[in-house]
Amino acid sequence: MHPLIELEDRYCAHNYHPLPVVLVRGEGPYVWDDQGRRYVDMMSAYSAVSHGHAHPRIVAALIEQARNLNIVSRAFHSDRLGAFLELACTLTGQDMALPMNTGAEAVETALKAVRKWAWKTKGVPDGQAEIIACEGNFHGRTIAVCGLSTESQYREGFGPFPPGLRTVPYGDAAALEAAITPHTAAFLVEPIQGEGGIVIPPAGYLSACAEICRRHNVMLIADEIQTGLGRTGKLLACEHEGVKPDGLVLGKALGGGILPVSMFLARRDLMAVFSPGDHGSTFGGNPLAAAVGLEALRVLQDEDLVAQSAAKGAWLLGELRQLDSPMLREARGRGLFIGLDIDPAHARARSIVERLMSRGLLSKETHETVVRLAPPLGIPQALLEWSLEQIREVFAEMDAEAGATASA
Ligand SMILES: *Cc1c(COP(=O)(O)O)cnc(C)c1O
Repeated sequence: MHPLIELEDRYCAHNYHPLPVVLVRGEGPYVWDDQGRRYVDMMSAYSAVSHGHAHPRIVAALIEQARNLNIVSRAFHSDRLGAFLELACTLTGQDMALPMNTGAEAVETALKAVRKWAWKTKGVPDGQAEIIACEGNFHGRTIAVCGLSTESQYREGFGPFPPGLRTVPYGDAAALEAAITPHTAAFLVEPIQGEGGIVIPPAGYLSACAEICRRHNVMLIADEIQTGLGRTGKLLACEHEGVKPDGLVLGKALGGGILPVSMFLARRDLMAVFSPGDHGSTFGGNPLAAAVGLEALRVLQDEDLVAQSAAKGAWLLGELRQLDSPMLREARGRGLFIGLDIDPAHARARSIVERLMSRGLLSKETHETVVRLAPPLGIPQALLEWSLEQIREVFAEMDAEAGATASA
């Protein structure tokens, strides 16, 4: 085994199953391993690297800020935070934001906000608020958030979970309405399920949910940690249905591919539930993160990354849909957020991912049956065409091998 993989294996908890590649450098859509081999990154760290690796403007903002002021905690104001949150709120149409670091923390922040809102404003007795999420969701790894998961591996052995959490089938607005009670504080939803396997709900689902939430005085909270900031070809995936959620969670690409930066954004009256001391984070909104996050949002605008995602994603998906292979059940996606649904009777997604890696293309399987394709949004068209060629060849190669085995 590679000595660095062995070293990591000995000292790092085995909570992931990485591909056997040791990366040492990244630039734009490329990463390099320690043997000097170059790969096209079609994974972008689960969309955290939508801007590409080491984006020069974001690195410059990082370095300049790092020389000046990094961490002060929210015990003091800084000259960076206001402008960052102003742009985030302006772009997303939200009124206020609460800065955190990782996605899971920002989701927790949203859950705390809606529970307190239910108590303070909706009149739900303290300790009785209910939150509804969807089957197949992924909102992070804290205990409360795992309590919302329907994935047995995310839950098994980690209980007990907090009460007041329930799930309904994804894509079924009537099921949401049926699950709402007078104690329901919020409905938490991903506009497209990412970890769940790039699952796109039926058209009209999100707008129907928004209408139901409005009618029942339930907060609609969109988790756009993965789908947000251009990934699906709109700034927010909610925009595909003209929905403006009451609260919004951003993360991943918000850190420009450099730092963990997340936030919960909301209507003023929802955010108003927080008073000094109610909730916080030592690192949330620190000047370094704010400078990097602000530059990440500016780059998104200046490079028109949202439009690039829409155009390139539509092209790539169109091509992938023409792939004719018994292994491929479906190619689906929106923008540069694409999943190849692999028929487990014919192949394992992992073996496709491994073959792509040996050809210099990095992707990742999710849920054992889906190959995720989510490159940096500025990926040049020529590289997308090269990637498509690799995918075509891997499918052809595996189909030929399966054919040879079948006729042997
Ligand atoms: C990745 C992700 C999270 C969790 O973010 P972390 O930064 O890993 O805590 C939450 N929700 C969605 C939709 C995600 O894709």
